[in-house]
Amino acid sequence: MAPPTLCILRETPTNRYSLNAVAALVEAARVAWCPARSARDLEAAAAPGTAVLYSFMTPDLERVRGEVGALRPRLPGVRWVAGGAHPSADPEGTLALGFDHVFVGEAERTLGPFLAARDGPAVIRDPEGGPAELDPFPALSEARPGPVEITRGCRGGCRFCAVGRRRVRHRSPEAVLAAAGPMVAAGRRVIRFITPDALAYGGGLGAVEELLKGLRARGAEPVLGTFPSEVRPERVTPEAAELVARLCHNRTLVIGGQSGSDRVLRLLGRGHTVAEVVAAARNAAGAGLRPHVDVIFGIPGETPDEQAATVELCRELHRGFGARIHAHYFHPLPGTPLWEADPEPLYPETEAFLVGAERAGYLDGSWRDQIALARRIREWAERGWIGRAGRLGG
Ligand code: SF4
Repeated sequence: MAPPTLCILRETPTNRYSLNAVAALVEAARVAWCPARSARDLEAAAAPGTAVLYSFMTPDLERVRGEVGALRPRLPGVRWVAGGAHPSADPEGTLALGFDHVFVGEAERTLGPFLAARDGPAVIRDPEGGPAELDPFPALSEARPGPVEITRGCRGGCRFCAVGRRRVRHRSPEAVLAAAGPMVAAGRRVIRFITPDALAYGGGLGAVEELLKGLRARGAEPVLGTFPSEVRPERVTPEAAELVARLCHNRTLVIGGQSGSDRVLRLLGRGHTVAEVVAAARNAAGAGLRPHVDVIFGIPGETPDEQAATVELCRELHRGFGARIHAHYFHPLPGTPLWEADPEPLYPETEAFLVGAERAGYLDGSWRDQIALARRIREWAERGWIGRAGRLGG
């Protein structure tokens, strides 16, 4: 089989940031690429010898399965390639969707050789799990400006999360500035970041300050600690909040709160307390930043009283500090320690609160969709679409 003459990056609203980095890797392999924003675009662009790259998460499973199942018979000679969070957690199940190759985990050192080679194995892993450093690899393609990944991995062990329990690597300030430079020069001065724990960049606030000052000196308006990054509550000290308020463009801080129960926070392996969530909101508000606090309802093992405590925490954060609440409903993700666990129900009092707070304008989030999603994920597993091999990666 000849090397692909073209890579088609199947773009969706949920994967465009990861495709920015994939595009850079494809360019480094000297292979042309184009995006496909619909199945129709994909079909029009594909030809024998083309590789079609999907990067997707578990909520997209049914859509991806349907699309690949429909297109594959109509596009002979195309290679179907998957990567990202879901394929990494369930490579065998992903192959069974109709893919020829699945990249597990980080692809900086595996995608280029795959594209250059005549063929590759069905499941492709970096034996070391990825590069030791991020700097040798571009954060994103210049043709696809967007948020710059400054930190990858997280030492946290949150049991619902697929990002945790992975070694942490930071992109150096010089490499971040190099990635941001072309965007600033093109007039995109607002620079956002991808990081699971924004205030931990570089190992401490000194590194965060150096990065932010370097960006501002080059005309950028950095946005740190809000979408697509967030902060852990114990890091939102008065000094950290003041730093963000002084050097960043954003006036909100997204804080991972998750529960109003210390017992549930321990069950989740969060490593912080409810009091630290309250202190984080207080410190953010004190610096002039609006706290936007993530909470999860229906966490496995959560009692009705503990769910009510999360509702009360939301009220307290809003009343005391003007916080906005970002509400989630627990849905199990393959490759996480809570994959086998079912969510607790959303109790009527909780639902009444969520609806009321939405109407009052201080609560957002996809909690309704996630109730249905949790059910669908279980159905997909029962149908054998997830975990066919009886084991999951992650
Ligand atoms: S939820 Fe955040 S802090 Fe916890 S493991 Fe995931 S990335 Fe780390």
